[in-house]
Amino acid sequence: MTRRYSAFGLIREGLRHHKGWHPAWRSPEPKRAYDVVIIGGGGHGLATAYYLATVHGIRNVAVIEKGWLGGGNTGRNTTTIRSNYFYPESVALYDFSLKLYEGLSQELNYNIMLSQRGVATVAHSDAEMEISARIVNAMQINGADAELMTRDQILAKAPLLNQSDQARYPVFGGVWQGRAGVARHDAVAWGYARAADSLGVDIIQGCEVTGFLTEAGACVGIETSKGVIRAGAVGLAVAGHSSVMAARAGFELPLHSYTLQAMVSEPVKPCLDTVILYPGTGTYVSQSDKGEMIIGGGIDRVPTYAQRGNPPVQETVISGLLEMFPSFGQLKMLRQWGGIVDVTPDSSPLIGPSPLSGLYLNCGWGTGGFKAIPAGGWLLAHLLAKGEHHDISRPFDLDRFTRGRLIDEAAGSGIAH
Ligand SMILES: Cc1cc2nc3c(=O)[nH]c(=O)nc-3n(C[C@H](O)[C@H](O)[C@H](O)COP(=O)(O)OP(=O)(O)OC[C@H]3O[C@@H](n4cnc5c(N)ncnc54)[C@H](O)[C@@H]3O)c2cc1C
Repeated sequence: MTRRYSAFGLIREGLRHHKGWHPAWRSPEPKRAYDVVIIGGGGHGLATAYYLATVHGIRNVAVIEKGWLGGGNTGRNTTTIRSNYFYPESVALYDFSLKLYEGLSQELNYNIMLSQRGVATVAHSDAEMEISARIVNAMQINGADAELMTRDQILAKAPLLNQSDQARYPVFGGVWQGRAGVARHDAVAWGYARAADSLGVDIIQGCEVTGFLTEAGACVGIETSKGVIRAGAVGLAVAGHSSVMAARAGFELPLHSYTLQAMVSEPVKPCLDTVILYPGTGTYVSQSDKGEMIIGGGIDRVPTYAQRGNPPVQETVISGLLEMFPSFGQLKMLRQWGGIVDVTPDSSPLIGPSPLSGLYLNCGWGTGGFKAIPAGGWLLAHLLAKGEHHDISRPFDLDRFTRGRLIDEAAGSGIAH
């Protein structure tokens, strides 16, 4: 029985020298069969298990993770959450996710440290201001909050921004989304894991899925390093390793896997209380609750499964940071890391049935799937429970690459994280 977290409980445990805490989830051995098995214990896989249990009443579920919970991209991202996309399909998806995020701490009884501090995407020219206006209009028409800000409004949000006349990328204004912000990435994974476990979901860590069990052309289970597990339906939520798993299932996906890097500085006193993104340089930055600057940029350009990243990209990102905030040149870098992101040709996710009957996809989130964890889990749970699309996931089906109805957000909103 999972204990409810509360301020009272924290004080009580403090007085007892914290001897009464229990593990937040169990470590069970896998059963021989489940109603649903989900491959990948990142945010999307864990959220899927949680919504299967809560929304659809399906609790005989296992999440199979080859490493540890949240050890993939979910624990490696720069935690930005927003829904400032261009196409109606994208806004429907990401704004649904943002709404779920807004109630998530209460729902999971786990503080995901959601901070809706706003995200500013800065424009550097009159032409970019026109594009910004187009994105703001599209977002407002699609029902998401958005505001077109002037140079003075952006500088009021982030006074340390480069205000020089000589700036290579001057601030002209930009797109502001006030409901956007950041959340603690580990807490999102742990919160979903704890809540799913308390509903009976088995979370199996240190168990690699090595193949698929098929009968009469349909997926009826998986082969793992801990043996064969049969399943009524299987969900695939393995991000950067989706192509690897697809090959094991006998089909190809329109995905390329790249390393995406991020880095943090030493902690400093609060000096940036929003998230700033410069499309001109591709660099974006926010400040964590601990005071570190969290810095990200574009992907490493060579497809790879190496989870570390190359120095030239670090140089590009840091030079972009110094262009944005010259005073950050005084900061020391604390650490750098990389994650493997799965990028589709139109920079939108793949959600839907796979070419192998009984196997369902949740992948292709590329550099921007942390913000989509609640919605991605919700939609995959719907597919696994009902065998058919939710209205929101329908446009993101694999068939868009044969129908030609792409959702090209790289061209539409021009932003990737
Ligand atoms: C540096 C960086 C910065 C980012 N910044 C942002 C951001 O600011 N905002 C945003 O929205 N998104 C961001 N993202 C993207 C985001 O992190 C991902 O899209 C999201 O976390 C994907 O979640 P997931 O659950 O699908 O994948 P993951 O968290 O990667 O989970 C997949 C899991 O599958 C497991 N797995 C793989 N193969 C197998 C197997 N054979 N058997 C069993 N398990 C397996 C892996 O071990 C892994 O734990 C960023 C990503 C990176 C790398």
